[in-house]
Amino acid sequence: MLKIYNTLTKKKEQFKPINEGKVSLYTCGPTVYDFVHLGNFKSYLTADILRRYLEYSGYEVRHIKNITDVGHLTEDDIAQGDSGEDKIAQKALSEKKTPKEVADFYEEYFKAAEKKLNILPAHYFPRATAHIPQMIKIIEKLLEKGLAYEKNGNVFFDVTKFPEYGKLSGNTLKNLKVGARLEEHPDKKNPWDFALWLKAPKVHLMKFSSPWSLGYPGWHIECTAMSLEYLGETIDIHTGGEDNIFPHHEAEIAQSESYTGQKFVNFWVHTRFLLVDGEKMSKSKHNFYKLEDVLGKGFSPMELRLALLSSQHCNQLNFSWNLLSQSRANLESINDFYTQLFAYEPKIEEAKLANFTLDAYKQEFTAAMDDDLNTPKALAVILKLVSDGNKMMAEKLLGNPAEVKLLLEDFAQVLGLILEKREIPEEIKQLAEERKKVRENKDFASSDDLRQKIEKLGYLVEDSKDGEYIIKKK
Ligand SMILES: [Zn+2]
Repeated sequence: MLKIYNTLTKKKEQFKPINEGKVSLYTCGPTVYDFVHLGNFKSYLTADILRRYLEYSGYEVRHIKNITDVGHLTEDDIAQGDSGEDKIAQKALSEKKTPKEVADFYEEYFKAAEKKLNILPAHYFPRATAHIPQMIKIIEKLLEKGLAYEKNGNVFFDVTKFPEYGKLSGNTLKNLKVGARLEEHPDKKNPWDFALWLKAPKVHLMKFSSPWSLGYPGWHIECTAMSLEYLGETIDIHTGGEDNIFPHHEAEIAQSESYTGQKFVNFWVHTRFLLVDGEKMSKSKHNFYKLEDVLGKGFSPMELRLALLSSQHCNQLNFSWNLLSQSRANLESINDFYTQLFAYEPKIEEAKLANFTLDAYKQEFTAAMDDDLNTPKALAVILKLVSDGNKMMAEKLLGNPAEVKLLLEDFAQVLGLILEKREIPEEIKQLAEERKKVRENKDFASSDDLRQKIEKLGYLVEDSKDGEYIIKKK
């Protein structure tokens, strides 16, 4: 049974869905004004692994990931989410494009990058700009209930009217009074109130009509509107990066629960930061890497995926090229093993063949994933299967290669790794056959020459006890 760390209760809790066999999952998606960096992808990977594992466990998952194509408000260092400029509009001006062209470009980029990383596409990617009427409806109701107020065309949520404010992040009003540095706005009653609707300045490129002003929505209200629209009043799981906890998710809870009178989300899952040299990877720190930076260094998307999964989502991960090299070696040995399983033919008589007992690996793998999606442990189980399986193959003792192959494919599916069956070039196969013949004639000098020749072409040949051999990629 899956246990998952819930930011709301600060505990690892057994996952239980609202409706048996079904899971509603919402992920805060990208703001499409710039390239998504690897730190963001680490968080999207968590949602992907969560979904894959839930599906593997037999659940039917409905996954929604929004596209923020209006407003400015996801930038790392904006403290309160209702200040700063519209990043999409700003980019549009600097690139001499319309905001829609900017948003379309980066949305396409985002989806293509997710595909390369083998992140399953959400069942739907709603765009904020297509849900303005839903947002207005929620804001009207909050005003009606006296939980929000309007001034000069701007509408703010009054956090003093929501006694549970701070229950997710710990930033209760009492704590906020002590330490928070929040953006001031002349129309706010309290500095910690957040914007639901803002009147657009004249130069603003993206504006929508509303009962209060020609303006645009606050960032937080988007996710409430789209989560309600596609998943209902209470959902099972909401995911995001740890920087979403406050103010974004805290505000989502306040406005959603005030609006519906129901609990908004049962499980909040947050992915910790990706670090570079001990510092958070972020746009504002200019220390961020894009997918292309990694591909440009010759690494594959699968090697990157494996690297990002090498720490559990609840732990920070320090990004380095060394980490990628290590992931390359691991992936190489997994793919080698996978390839060998296809070519492998036990040569000894049936009676001597041992069936490789797979239950223990399956149990260990499931136990690791059940424990708050412990991907590094799950990967260790795969590597153990590879090393034990290799030993048995070298001895020609493995009697059930097809079963081993299926198990490996299952594990890979959960971690989203695309396995590669390598085709050994004909030339290499011929050289290896030639080498086998000279070895049979005890011509070891020629055998060594041939081995070197094979190595120069990028392959290794390993001899097994019965005079056979295995070819591996170097
Ligand atoms: Zn969100």
